[in-house]
Amino acid sequence: MVKETKFYDCLGVPATASDAQLKSAYKKGALKFHPDKNTNNPDAAEKFKELSHAYETLSDPQKRQLYDQYGEEGLEHGGGAGGMNAEDLFSQFFGGGGAFGGMFGGGMREQGPKKARTIHHVHKVNLEDIYRGKVSKLALQKSVICPGCDGRGGKEGAVKECTGCNGSGMKTMMRQMGPMIQRFQTVCPDCNGEGENIRDKDRCKRCNGKKTTVERKVLHVHVDKGVRDGHKIEFRGEGDQMPGSLPGDVVFEIEQKPHPRFQRKNDDLFYQAEIDLLTALGGGTIHVEHLDERWLTVNIAPGEVIVPDAIKVIAGQGMPSFRHHDHGNLYIKFDVKFPEKDQLRNLELLEQVLPPRKQQPQPPADAMVEDFELENIDTSEGSQARAHGAAGVMDEDDEDMPAGAERVQCASQ
Ligand SMILES: [Zn+2]
Ligand SMILES: [Zn+2]
Repeated sequence: MVKETKFYDCLGVPATASDAQLKSAYKKGALKFHPDKNTNNPDAAEKFKELSHAYETLSDPQKRQLYDQYGEEGLEHGGGAGGMNAEDLFSQFFGGGGAFGGMFGGGMREQGPKKARTIHHVHKVNLEDIYRGKVSKLALQKSVICPGCDGRGGKEGAVKECTGCNGSGMKTMMRQMGPMIQRFQTVCPDCNGEGENIRDKDRCKRCNGKKTTVERKVLHVHVDKGVRDGHKIEFRGEGDQMPGSLPGDVVFEIEQKPHPRFQRKNDDLFYQAEIDLLTALGGGTIHVEHLDERWLTVNIAPGEVIVPDAIKVIAGQGMPSFRHHDHGNLYIKFDVKFPEKDQLRNLELLEQVLPPRKQQPQPPADAMVEDFELENIDTSEGSQARAHGAAGVMDEDDEDMPAGAERVQCASQ
């Protein structure tokens, strides 16, 4: 069932016409009413313009669907109004330009129909999935036009505009306040603000007169390799449906979950490796578990001397870049663990390995000299040493969903 048939009537075809029928109807009409052939007939120009607009709309499957569902109103928004002018369309069919080009464009209405609200959802993705790319199946609950009554709320003809408010849902009332008469707006009591009334017996059983029902819909969200935190993926027209409005959109925003091993900055990865002093000085091997089940073996050469907090880089082992898939770098920051007290033996052998002691400032010969021993600092409660505790530790929190998020959940992992 189509909402209006004006465009079909203009072309002289039924609403069920095939693409070929539309095309041939347009060709016939356009040749007949082309302004070049009808210089003394101003009505022909108008008719030519209408034909072109009708054909341009109906030959585009998306626009045709919008038109069928919402009528001409539906085209101003989602269907991409504007379009080409009549002469351009004509030349596309028959070749050549015309002197009348530009005369027939424009005429679009300022205001389009309402659009149902957009459903926003934050889609949390772990770094492994961003590294490899994946398709998430997300199910959402959305309102759809009730199939039982085509969004009328009841039997055809049973839904009447409310006479109390003329369909607006609001009513202006007057109240006597002493000598003054106060006017105020209130929700229409006859229809509870609905603007229309349905007899109970004619009310649609499926939606109970609400005109919409709730449907579960699964959307396939492509999490592309290397996608950035905050990236938005839009599904136009997949959101809520409302009678008399264009369907809303669904927007997924990618949120990258914190990772236990890696931190990401743009396309680079940062990894913290803990090594002991022997490895830092004498060399050794570390193993880094990557995001795609590979393990990277990294050799530290003897004598490399990795100082605490040194940062080294492995080129090309970072994240794939979004839509290009060359890779960023992997930066490794070294946390050098010094041995504990009492773990050292044969300390004097260090004299053979390390460079000689650096000369310390010496007191002058006549200075007063006192002897001291080092003590450990008390790190228990109240000590300022606590202020240097681990900062920037993030925890994964899946429960912390923003408003509206409860409407979307994973259909499968
Ligand atoms: Zn219904
Ligand atoms: Zn009313």
